Amino acid sequence: MEEGYPKREGMAGNESPKITSPAFLRRKLQEKGLSPRRSLGQNFLVDENILHKIISAATPTPGDFILDIGAGPGALSLALAESGCHVIALEKDKGLASFLREEAEERGFDRLQVVEGDVRRLELRETCADLWGEEPFMRKIKVVGNLPYYLTTPLLFQLLQGDLQLQLLVLMVQLEVARRIKAAPGSKEYGALSLLCRYYSRPRLLFKVPPSVFYPPPEVASAVVSLEVLDRPPSEVGNEDLFWAIVKRAFQKRRKTLPNALDGLHNLHKEQWAELIKKAGLSPSCRGETLSLEQFAYLAQISYNNRGI
Ligand code: SAM
Repeated sequence: MEEGYPKREGMAGNESPKITSPAFLRRKLQEKGLSPRRSLGQNFLVDENILHKIISAATPTPGDFILDIGAGPGALSLALAESGCHVIALEKDKGLASFLREEAEERGFDRLQVVEGDVRRLELRETCADLWGEEPFMRKIKVVGNLPYYLTTPLLFQLLQGDLQLQLLVLMVQLEVARRIKAAPGSKEYGALSLLCRYYSRPRLLFKVPPSVFYPPPEVASAVVSLEVLDRPPSEVGNEDLFWAIVKRAFQKRRKTLPNALDGLHNLHKEQWAELIKKAGLSPSCRGETLSLEQFAYLAQISYNNRGI
């Protein structure tokens, strides 16, 4: 059999070629005059084993509504559509979006719809409602993605703080970002991203992924994380805007003591913050990087209740 047309066990011989075959993908991209663009973080997944591990972490059941962010040539989207899921594949690159549209058509996957656009600029709720109607908002949406590394942190804020009803996110991210997502207070990786993920979800680092499974290989190792979205946050914060403002300030100035880092926030000077920090049962000489989610939450609550001081 010609290289690039591997048969999957138990499948008929007329099965479509796999997008994860490096030779097939390279040839197809070449035919369309496309080549991987570094500026868009285009490192395509070309490993069937890793693909299956990601797909099984997403626990796809026929009829699920799944958003693939940064779909590229479609390794994840095509596999999910094959499992009977409704898939929206979001892709910024015009050439790749039309490439994937053709692949979906050739395979007869009308459950797979390609949206060309920058995920940071799209109104995701409207996009989903336009293509799927309102049903997914009762059953909730899953997100998968092999994300361009530059996009991971802002996208997690956009998704977790946005208005999509999400159930589960399964994402390939840079290993260093996976460690930040899972980091505990006091570690150097701990920051606003760790708190974001813990506030909205149950984050897990599922497995590490070497550069060799991508075409072209990136310079750094990756990991797949899952974030099971919580029905409600684990801690009461009083006012979410104030809570996130405190968290962001604390980590923007992570080497400073907390009253110094918060100085000026909400028109309160550092002595007033020191009082609030004491009221929350914390030492005014502590740094934000040592505080747990519950401690930040309690400080935000106390600050909200005493904002008139
Ligand atoms: N999912 C494919 C795979 O696993 O092979 C491609 C993954 S590749 C790491 C990231 C993809 O995200 C690229 O196809 C890139 O063009 C796309 N991308 C980059 N920035 C984007 C953005 N702002 N909005 C949507 N897609 C983006």
